[in-house]
Amino acid sequence: MSYQPAHPESIFTYGAPQLKFGHGAADEIGYDLSLTGARRVLVITDPGVAATGTPQRVAEQMARFGIEAVTYEGAHVEPTDESLRDAIDFARENGPWDGFVAVGGGTSIDTAKAVDLLTTNPGELMDYINVPVGAGRAPTHPLAPLVAVPTTTGTGSESTTICVLDVLELKVKTGISHSRLRPTLAVIDPAVTLTQPAGVTASSGMDILCHALESWTARPYTSYEHKKPEERVPYCGSNPISDMWSEKAMRLLAPTFRRAVRDGEDEEARGAMSLAATFAGMGFGNAGVHVPHANAYPIAGRVKDFRPADYPQEEAMVPHGMSVALTAPEAFRFTFEADPDRHVQAARMLEPDCAMTDDPADLLPEVLTRLMRDIGIPNGIGAVGYDDGDVDDLVEGSLKQQRLLATAPREVGAEDLAGIFRRSMELW
Ligand SMILES: [Zn+2]
Repeated sequence: MSYQPAHPESIFTYGAPQLKFGHGAADEIGYDLSLTGARRVLVITDPGVAATGTPQRVAEQMARFGIEAVTYEGAHVEPTDESLRDAIDFARENGPWDGFVAVGGGTSIDTAKAVDLLTTNPGELMDYINVPVGAGRAPTHPLAPLVAVPTTTGTGSESTTICVLDVLELKVKTGISHSRLRPTLAVIDPAVTLTQPAGVTASSGMDILCHALESWTARPYTSYEHKKPEERVPYCGSNPISDMWSEKAMRLLAPTFRRAVRDGEDEEARGAMSLAATFAGMGFGNAGVHVPHANAYPIAGRVKDFRPADYPQEEAMVPHGMSVALTAPEAFRFTFEADPDRHVQAARMLEPDCAMTDDPADLLPEVLTRLMRDIGIPNGIGAVGYDDGDVDDLVEGSLKQQRLLATAPREVGAEDLAGIFRRSMELW
């Protein structure tokens, strides 16, 4: 079913951080923060990124601008309510702070968002976590300036208004979402982007690609009921501005993604990938993502003993981008009928010389599976340890992501999801 609003929405919104992009951009953070009057800032990172020395370099250059910087290295890869509370406690005990700098992957940036929120606003973490897990309270005070310096490509957390976390006791992944959480400044500096092994580039690249594809195919903002001003949310469905960024991200990925996986030293391909990640973040940070991302939560969350190449082998895991990619071909086969043109256009942006399939609905799934095969993504959710007996559990997990499913271009129920999971057991 497609959506038939009684009073169609006529307004869309667009938000984005200020942006500095390019070699050496990270050396100017002290200057940028000094313009806000900051005297004392907290640099937030995780132990892995701290070991590269980058956060310390970022912290050290701030002295030149009269800013005292303290570094917190305790951000947890995949933040939990516990790890966020530790970071918040540290910041509260050692504050006050005039600003925050997050150096690392999405996890450090998400940790910094939570720390910024809970050091500028009253209450505790649970007060702000999305309902039904938390109270879904909105911040009443402005947050302090937050500079986000991603050292991995893909997550787009530097441009979004969400903080994703695992609530350990409830075994559920959820988030905090509010426009005030968006970083003030995103600094994307290829000089601090870590060289990634092929498997990591493949997975994070699929995340970028799905951010672009899902926001490009998200239900249009006009398909929602008209909102009151106080009801507006950061994710408003596809709209002319998010479309522009999503489209550009796909066109950047098309000639460079396979190259970046094949040769991690290919500077040009890597540069295009980080630009694509930023563009995709500008798109999905406003339009939203849908079925592949909703399915990714249970695929990653219920992992049994899959250990992907090029990732730490101590813990079983399905990396975020991989978990998103595994049901993407079938998800887009399902959403095709909502807007056939957009699906065909997307396929042609990703593979400009692809030949038309007998059934146009097959085109985008085929373009995606060809790519996934070439870059070494596992062949379906069967290849990461799931079988037909897991489908009910996976569906239940996806259904918990109502905020995402509601962004799909057609209504999606339990039966539809079960079909997508079953057909995604083996993709080629
Ligand atoms: Zn993602």
